[in-house]
Formats: sequence, C-alpha cells, structure tokens
Amino acid sequence: MARKFFVGGNFKMNGTISSVKEIVNNLNNAQLDSNTETVIAPPALYLLLVRENLKKEIGVAAQNVYDKPNGAFTGEISVSQLQDSGIAWTILGHSERRTILRESDEVVASKTKYASDNGVSVIWCCGESLEEREAGKTLDVIAGQLAALKKQLGSDWSRIVVAYEPIWAIGTGKVATTQQAQEVHASIRAWLKKEVSDKAADETRILYGGSVSEKNCKDLSKEKDIDGFLVGGASLKPAFVDIINSNL
Ligand code: PGA
Repeated sequence: MARKFFVGGNFKMNGTISSVKEIVNNLNNAQLDSNTETVIAPPALYLLLVRENLKKEIGVAAQNVYDKPNGAFTGEISVSQLQDSGIAWTILGHSERRTILRESDEVVASKTKYASDNGVSVIWCCGESLEEREAGKTLDVIAGQLAALKKQLGSDWSRIVVAYEPIWAIGTGKVATTQQAQEVHASIRAWLKKEVSDKAADETRILYGGSVSEKNCKDLSKEKDIDGFLVGGASLKPAFVDIINSNL
C-alpha cells in the first residue's frame, strides 16, 4: 500500500483568534495537493474555531490529550471531548512536552494507546538531543522510545503517524541533512518491521520535523522513507502551503 504523504502544522502556543482565522482563510483559499493529507494543530483554545471554519479536507489535531475518561483532571482535555468537537487527531510526545513538561516515555505511550484505542489518531513524536547525537546514540535513543510505545500499544499501529524530530533541529533553523533524516527514518522502518509487523513497516507514515521550510522541503520529500513533515514555525506562515505542496 502506498503511504499518503502527510503534512502536519504544529502551531504550539502561538496565535490569536485573528491570526488563527487568517491562517484558516489562507488554507481554505489555497490549491492543495490532493495526494497530501494535511492536519493542523492549533492551541486547544482554538480547536473548535478552526474545526468550524476550516475546509473539511484538512484535519485538525490537538497538541496533547489525557489518557482517562472525563472526570476530575484539572487542566486536561479528554479524547471524548476531542471527538465531540470533531477533532480526529492529536500530537503526543512532542519533545517540548517530554522535556519542559517532564512527560516520560511511559506517560506518552499510555496517552497514545488510550487515544488510539478510542478512535483518535496520533502524531507520535520521537527524537534525540544534540548531546545524544554527538555521543553516537541517536538510533538507540529512538529505538528506546519506540520500544516504550510498543510495550503499551501492542501491534496495532494503524492510527499512528511517527514524527522524527531531532531536538537540535526544532526551532533552531538547523535542519537535519537529507542523509541524516533518511538514515533515522530507515532505521525506524526497520525497527517496525522487526518488532511490530511487515504491515506496520509498510503502512506507517514517518514524518520529519525540525526547521522544515519551503526551501528545504522538496529535497527532504524525495527521500524514500520520508513520508511527510511536522512543521512548527513555518506552519504559521503563508509558505506552509508550499510545504504541503512539496511533491507537486
Ligand atoms: P519547527 O518545529 O518547524 O519550528 O522547527 C517543529 C516541531 O517542533 O514540530
């Protein structure tokens, strides 16, 4: 099965009602490659605004979700609330949540399992720090993060999109080279084949994230195991459309 190219836009904690509306209008009016699946992740406060105004071909993702049903969990959002609001996706395990909010591999895996089991698709993020890369530990770090996910998720990866985001490339303008990215993507696919199934290896989209721009996306998209992007800063700009259309 051919993997459909996927581009996610992670707004992080950016935007106002007016700037988010502007992004939505821009996307609604743009000619987007129909062979690319596009999903944008505004801050939680704007999810409904975006879902109600964005054209239906584009998906909407939360940036986080909790792994319990509704209840006494102050500050959290539930999977059923996302579904009630027409939000079919969530990002989980972004490095900013892993490092700043101290989410462990286990917490991320538990939330991923809960969302996936209950019908919300997940952009699950992994990636190494600069220190880990310089110590030659990149592939081990990624394999460890994947193993922690598999331990709870099991063999059904049909609702998972993997985003490889080297931490040193996020928001720094320092993009991984096409070879660096392809090497890690190929190793993630090989891991899926060995540890999960041929089906998971063939069908799971593996995105690259970290300083993706309209300038570097075309070269990255040509790599065999790069199935799309998770875009931060550039998803707030009109040039996001060029990234969505990087295969045209
Ligand atoms: P960036 O962020 O594109 O601004 O580097 C990517 C991400 O954190 O998802």
